[in-house]
Amino acid sequence: MTETKAKKAKPYVGRFAPTPSGPLHFGSLVAAVASYADALANRGTWLLRLEDVDEHRTVRGADQRIVETLRGFGFVWAGEIVVQSLRKKMYRAAIEQLENEARLYVCKCSRKSLEEEPLNATGERLYPGRCRERKFEDFGHVALRFALDEDESIKWKDIHYGAQQQLLAQDIGDFVLRRSDGLFTYQLAVVVDDAEQGVTRVVRGADLLSSTARQILLQQELGLPTPEYLHVPVLVNGRGEKLSKSNLAAALPSTRQVRTLTTAWGVLGQVAPKVKIETPAAFWAFATDTWDVKVIPKTMTVPYLAPG
Ligand code: GLU
Repeated sequence: MTETKAKKAKPYVGRFAPTPSGPLHFGSLVAAVASYADALANRGTWLLRLEDVDEHRTVRGADQRIVETLRGFGFVWAGEIVVQSLRKKMYRAAIEQLENEARLYVCKCSRKSLEEEPLNATGERLYPGRCRERKFEDFGHVALRFALDEDESIKWKDIHYGAQQQLLAQDIGDFVLRRSDGLFTYQLAVVVDDAEQGVTRVVRGADLLSSTARQILLQQELGLPTPEYLHVPVLVNGRGEKLSKSNLAAALPSTRQVRTLTTAWGVLGQVAPKVKIETPAAFWAFATDTWDVKVIPKTMTVPYLAPG
């Protein structure tokens, strides 16, 4: 087998990675449906990971509730559910590797001291690099930031949104990989986990499009493979705001799941089933045969209407 053929034959591994900060809502279901349908249509493996790396955002019992909701909607994942809070050893090892490559620096700036700084592309403060020259002394209770080169630019191709480019120093700024309270950040954990779990295609909401360059950069620094990325538009409410737990998007109903799945399917631009579907399993069989990435809309123009 030639090398290109061997590369092409790499089996598809996808995943869904909810944060257990509350119950799943319709917006997260849309991302889950896209991710699962894409894996099914590609005869791939689909994994579930609970992203509880930010322990302060984690709500007790939300993990169990999410798992039960997904089961009720007929999602079937392969193997054990991966839980980020149990994987700190791996994140620590990645931090050590980046420390050895001299890509990190210790930052002692408080959030308050950065209040005047401009916001970056993702609504975080653009870090002015104040601590860059500090002597490196990692005593655990300091934040660690990634030191970006001035011209560090990442280009990639999203399967749905096409060519993307981010000039990291300008658009994002030196970003935190371990916070001063000792918690590792999402950007680090997601990169370590996607690689360790062998994920070959990430399908998720477009709110994470602007995180992708950071993740690709970290993959390159850590010598990890870069998966393919497919971002799907996020759903907005009537006021144009992203549907999220903070604007009180309702928890998903625990009955008539097929109806809610069919609504999510329509929101993703997919062709409606022609015959009546009775069970989630029948829905997924239909989804396996009909999922079409090409018809996903670029924006969710349909304002959110609670299915019910
Ligand atoms: N945990 C993130 C969320 O709930 C998803 C991260 C990802 O898919 O990369 O929004």
